[in-house]
This record gives sequence, C-alpha cells and structure tokens, in this order.
Amino acid sequence: MTSAADKSTRALHEWFNVKGHPFTIAGPCSAESEEQVFETSRQLVESGKVSVIRAGVWKPRTRPDSFEGIGPNALPWLQRVQSELNVPVATEVANARHVEHCLKAGIDVLWLGARTTVNPFYVQEISESLKGVDVPVLVKNPIHADLGLWMGAIERLEKAGVKRIAAIHRGFFAENSAPFRNEPKWEMSFALRAKAPEIPIICDPSHIAGARDLVEQVSQTAMDINLDGLMVESHITPDKALSDAAQQVTPASLSAMIDRLIIRSAEP
Ligand code: PEP
Ligand code: MN
Repeated sequence: MTSAADKSTRALHEWFNVKGHPFTIAGPCSAESEEQVFETSRQLVESGKVSVIRAGVWKPRTRPDSFEGIGPNALPWLQRVQSELNVPVATEVANARHVEHCLKAGIDVLWLGARTTVNPFYVQEISESLKGVDVPVLVKNPIHADLGLWMGAIERLEKAGVKRIAAIHRGFFAENSAPFRNEPKWEMSFALRAKAPEIPIICDPSHIAGARDLVEQVSQTAMDINLDGLMVESHITPDKALSDAAQQVTPASLSAMIDRLIIRSAEP
C-alpha cells in the first residue's frame, strides 16, 4: 500500500462523501429514455454502493449511423435522478457547448472521453469554459498509450483553475487486445501516478473488458494495483442497450460484483 494511493483515494471519498465501498460511478453507457435512466439509477442508488450516476448524452461513436445520443434533451432526465434520488450525476463533454449545457443544467461531474483527451484544441476550449467553475472533471486516457496527452489534458484543466481532477484508465486501442476490447496497459497508470501522485485514478473496467463476463476480473486487478475507484457501465436491460450492450451489467450484478471484490483497506 502506498501513501500516495491512500491520499488520492481519500480525496475521492471526500469529494463524493463515499462510505464503506470503493468509490463507484455507475450507469448506462448512453441515456436512452427517461425510464431507462431513472430505473437504472434507482436500482444503483438503492444498492447503496454507487456514489455518482453516469450516463452519456453526447456519444462519440466510432462509425456513422450508430446511436449518437439524445443530446441536451436528456439532461432533464439526469436532473430528475439528481433531485429525486439525491445523487450526483455525471456526463461526457466533448466541447465548450456541451459544458455550457451541463453547467446550465447543474450537472455535478463532467468527464472527457478518450476521443477528446487526444485533441488539445477541444481540451483547451473545455478548460477555458470551466474557468471559475468548481466542478469535478474526470479525464479518460487517450485512445493510444500517449502519457503526454493524458497529462497535458490534466494540466490544461489545472491551469484553468479546475480544482477537483481525476483520471480514468479505460484501456488502449491495440490491433490484438484479446481477450479484452482494449489493452489494459496498467503501466500507464503507474506512469501517471509517478508524475502526478495527487491525481486520483479511476478504472473503467467496462471499456477495457468489452464483455460483461470480464468486468469483474478487470475491476479486481484495478483494486489490486491500488487504483482509487471504478466507473462501471450498468443498464436495466443490457442486451437491449443502444451502445456498448456487450459490456453493460445489470444493477444487481454490479452490486454483487462489488460485494465480491477484495479491497485493500485504506489507512485512516
Ligand atoms: C463511454 O464512457 O461511454 C465512452 C464513450 O468511453 P470512452 O471515451 O472511454 O470510449
Ligand atoms: Mn460506453
């Protein structure tokens, strides 16, 4: 156990008032309907193991003709989750316009996706649009294993005055990443930790695994190497999901998985 990891874990626990479980963000890959977002969130919150609800509103799809998200019309669904279930909500922003919509809607946590972290122009405009705003921002690793880009995005946000920044390790594109969708390359988190020990690192086992049966083993590895939390995709009817169906888990299986994880005990 390293004291750097304890400090970054504690930071997340303080930011999000986490008690008794690893810090966990969960929710559907995409917000698809008010009912799907609300029911998934209700079950996750009732499990008592999820501190922040996620749902993508603008979806960066690799190929055209895929479901590209509902857009700003889904933000009121997240507001309903926030107010009726009393839980912070998070969504992905890929440009300054997205940030503006989210801030107006009072979204609690923003994240930059892997396809945004690679683009310094977008990271810069997002950072500038966050000047003077105290909202936590999570930065996914870029698609390829480029530590400079990952750090650069974090530094741009820091320079804009964003105080609560965490990284998300979601794995890296590789021609052959079997059995996973993305290659974990855990050494990238060690490298980030060495350069910025104060930045909490959250593992996204869903986008590493790409298959629901592999989500638990990736989550366990993340805990074993002292990453500070998890972001897991969860859907009430995963097989019917409009994006990332194969990797989403039901709220009940997420809760059971968290019970099975062996977690290092954080020092008081
Ligand atoms: C997502 O979180 O649904 C997503 C699009 O992830 P990534 O940016 O890691 O591909
Ligand atoms: Mn997804």
